[in-house]
Amino acid sequence: MLNGFVHESILERAQRKGLVEIHVHNLRDYTTDKHRRVDDYPYGGFAGMVMQCQPIDACVSHLISERHYDEIIFTSPDGEQFTQPVANELSLLNNLIILCGHYKGIDYRIREHLITREISIGDYVLTGGEIAAAAIVDAVTRLVPGVIGDDQSALSDCFQDHLLAAPIYTRPAVYKGWRVPDILLSGNDAKIKDWEFQQSLERTRRLRPDLMDEGPDL
Ligand code: SAH
Repeated sequence: MLNGFVHESILERAQRKGLVEIHVHNLRDYTTDKHRRVDDYPYGGFAGMVMQCQPIDACVSHLISERHYDEIIFTSPDGEQFTQPVANELSLLNNLIILCGHYKGIDYRIREHLITREISIGDYVLTGGEIAAAAIVDAVTRLVPGVIGDDQSALSDCFQDHLLAAPIYTRPAVYKGWRVPDILLSGNDAKIKDWEFQQSLERTRRLRPDLMDEGPDL
């Protein structure tokens, strides 16, 4: 799932440019089980299967013997919510491990002893951590300087400054009679900046007033 994803589009270009390195590790390569099993039944007779300590520990031990990792993240629905501020924070770090759970989850001792941070991408349950890891890798990578063309562009996205982004348009100025706002064709940069800010404010008040509670008074 992840090997395809991390070698497409902007993530692939970022790696080619040497701006980020993304490696996908298969826990089955680290199991000592001769059938390459990585899961077992839970103690207590609960439903589902649980990922065992040994392959995860072996994989993480191998990785941390090669370089220092700033965080060892576990993707988990009960983790801290993944938000733009968390992505910003992670983008400033050098090396991250993101562990994907599967089945019913992972042996809790891994979370107690190896994991430094637990992140959820939302209040719903996925079958595995790959989509969560993909979301984290994607959101963090595009914040690395040089990854998306115009450095300003990541800063003007939604959630930066506790505001939603203003609407954007491209040519033609009129399509099927649908017009681009006149102000954007005026060439008056100061007025356009002001329009952009007012649009952000209005859209945030209407669609996500909760964001403004956390931000500065506007
Ligand atoms: N029994 C667990 C859910 C297991 S889902 C519970 O109730 O919390 C299997 C795996 O998918 C999890 O271990 C986690 O790695 C991943 N996962 C599922 N939903 C997720 C979410 N919202 N955010 C991040 N990871 C998630």
